[in-house]
Amino acid sequence: MKKMHDFIIRGGKVIDGTGADPVKADVGLNESRISAVGDLSGRQTHHTIDATGCYVCPGFIDVHSHSDTFILAEPTSPSKVYQGVTTEIIGNCGASAAPIRSKNDLPFDWQFLSYPGQWQSMREYLKLLEECRPAVNVVPIVGHNRLRIAVMGHEDHLASVDEMRMMERMLEISMDEGAWGLSTGLIYRPGKYAAEDEITALAAIVARRNGIYTTHMRSEAGKVCEAVDETIKLGRKTRVRIQISHLKTAGAKNWHFVDNIISLITHARADGIEVAADRYPYLFSCTDLDILLPDWLAANDRITILKGLSEQKTRNRLRDELAAERSPSYWEGIIVATSTQAPWRGRTILSIANDLAVEPAEAVIRILAKDELLTQAFYAGMSEDNMWKIYSQPFVMIGSDASLRVPNGLFPNDHPHPRAYGSFTKYLRAALDGKTVPLGEAVRKMTSLAADHFKIKGRGKLTSGSLADIIVFNPEMVKDLSTYEKPHQFSAGIRDVMVNGKMVMSATRLTGNRPGKILSM
Ligand SMILES: [Zn+2]
Repeated sequence: MKKMHDFIIRGGKVIDGTGADPVKADVGLNESRISAVGDLSGRQTHHTIDATGCYVCPGFIDVHSHSDTFILAEPTSPSKVYQGVTTEIIGNCGASAAPIRSKNDLPFDWQFLSYPGQWQSMREYLKLLEECRPAVNVVPIVGHNRLRIAVMGHEDHLASVDEMRMMERMLEISMDEGAWGLSTGLIYRPGKYAAEDEITALAAIVARRNGIYTTHMRSEAGKVCEAVDETIKLGRKTRVRIQISHLKTAGAKNWHFVDNIISLITHARADGIEVAADRYPYLFSCTDLDILLPDWLAANDRITILKGLSEQKTRNRLRDELAAERSPSYWEGIIVATSTQAPWRGRTILSIANDLAVEPAEAVIRILAKDELLTQAFYAGMSEDNMWKIYSQPFVMIGSDASLRVPNGLFPNDHPHPRAYGSFTKYLRAALDGKTVPLGEAVRKMTSLAADHFKIKGRGKLTSGSLADIIVFNPEMVKDLSTYEKPHQFSAGIRDVMVNGKMVMSATRLTGNRPGKILSM
């Protein structure tokens, strides 16, 4: 007689993650692994999950997460689990939790959270993460900004030979301690000060260890073709495996670059460069509102900028510059997100300006002054046609570009981009409605494509012997509910979520189990 299964998921349609179409099958589990897929009607089991009318597939891999320190504060990862995410790849865009000298090295909004302990090195951070027992699996990457800040502070200059050596050593140590590779954020300070040589030298270390290099490129707008070129050149030099983060062509005048960037990547892949990409299924991006400030003001420290915002002369100059060549429709395309002022959240600059009875440029100054520069905003500027074109490429995965969230907020005034709550369910809904690639291929993008490219062993496929990260979803109910106006809404339709063979969500309720693992290369 066959061994008894711990679980059998019966009667569902299985999408195995390889790109194949759904097939009716039962799934048997023993401990943390899938032990059988097929007709298991004669088999015995301790627990049965009835998946009649539902699909069963591997748990989704969020290849572009920013949950790094958020998991320490909220290890149940609710906004992610409700989307069916069972593994998060963290440390992207040059921003990881470690290595740091002190909390002050972290991105500003990460400094506000309260953490259960302290850390400096990757080893200390991962130990703390493990003690927090995350609900989902975690793949950590080292952020280039962390290395540069730890070695050079926030300074704007090229790295000296000694500084290079220190960053290289710090990267090697972090990878020895559990990081899977390196990420860059080449539009952010201080990452943008790095020359190509600096990134190439660090990527060469990652390549030698067969790690991954993820990059928020130097441009996603007017210079996006040059940025893709720079990335591929680095791949040719170092042979490092590359993930281009949140692939897009921002700004209507740059939309026509999409065919060129797709062709550059496709040709590089044909030449054997292992380069892939991800994106989130939304047309607004999200970043700080103060990126609108011109360099003459933005290059100062925060106190000086705030002082400027309070002086009439500076305000006048700033207002004129902000207003120049910007139409009302431009201001309609910017939505205030996180702000100290609840009534402004989720509203366009134009409508806030109307309320205040001032010009939009003046409204921006008042908002930034009131929030002391900490306002975040959503920016229009992506093309829907381009988004679907990008998703139709076989090398493009789904990444949320977001940290985990909880509806009652991890920190005050938090008004996140809806991608934090809805990236995977929104994309899955589009696949179910026939708006993108076929369902089997859509699931592959969220599962085995990610596992193969990042070399995550034993996950991403629903086959006998694989690790049991599994979700059950109801195709009628799948829907993202988070919006730009009201972002704090969990997704619907993901019914059950298993991580390493343990239920994390059962019948749309979180179980409280936290069986996630810090994965090793
Ligand atoms: Zn980024």
